[in-house]
Amino acid sequence: MHRENLSLLFQTLPENVTLVAVSKFHSKEKIMEAYSMGQRIFAESRVQELLLKQAELSKDICWHMIGHLQTNKVRSIVPFISLIQSVDSRHLLECIDREAKMVQRRISCLLEVSVTGEKNKTGWDAENLLEYARAGEWKNLQNIEFSGLMGMATLTDDETLIRKDFKRIHDVFIELKDSFGAQFKTLSMGMTDDYHIALSEGSNMVRIGSFIFGPREY
Ligand SMILES: *Cc1c(COP(=O)(O)O)cnc(C)c1O
Repeated sequence: MHRENLSLLFQTLPENVTLVAVSKFHSKEKIMEAYSMGQRIFAESRVQELLLKQAELSKDICWHMIGHLQTNKVRSIVPFISLIQSVDSRHLLECIDREAKMVQRRISCLLEVSVTGEKNKTGWDAENLLEYARAGEWKNLQNIEFSGLMGMATLTDDETLIRKDFKRIHDVFIELKDSFGAQFKTLSMGMTDDYHIALSEGSNMVRIGSFIFGPREY
């Protein structure tokens, strides 16, 4: 745990930017150390790990899901999750809506867009997503809050390419806003190695793991 890095983020991130501490593969002790410094938003990528940590740690933690979510796991997280950032299909949206209804919640979701063309990446194709938004069927999903967009840049050292990906994600975000309206305000882009670039391309939510917690212990 790098306390000095977390302090630096507290001090330097612009006020409109939300810091999500990505705690996947890190211990509960490390999470509570960040918590003791004032961090309240943590993100996990695997449901099993999320459930264990949520059950045992402070109840005022806001948990985000950032990994691929299988529909058969939705029910287990819907009672407490504060944001699902990795909504990558219409099928998943419909499932979250159904489960949210059962527990009388409205769940905030980010749509995950994939712009890099990397084969192993999940997320909506940008064109399909824009088409889905324009078609308007999503209005029937009354237990979903369409809060914004999440995206990742290509895994590379090439800053020009990273910036191009973030620009594209930002463009898609602006276009989607036309359809989803005022609720659609979160643009989640940027991780440890690229969050500076993401911020300069319009991100207002960064997901940072290694910089805060050190290397993950797999
Ligand atoms: C693991 C992960 C992060 C954090 O990555 P770091 O490089 O450790 O900051 C951010 N976003 C997603 C979707 C992740 O899976």
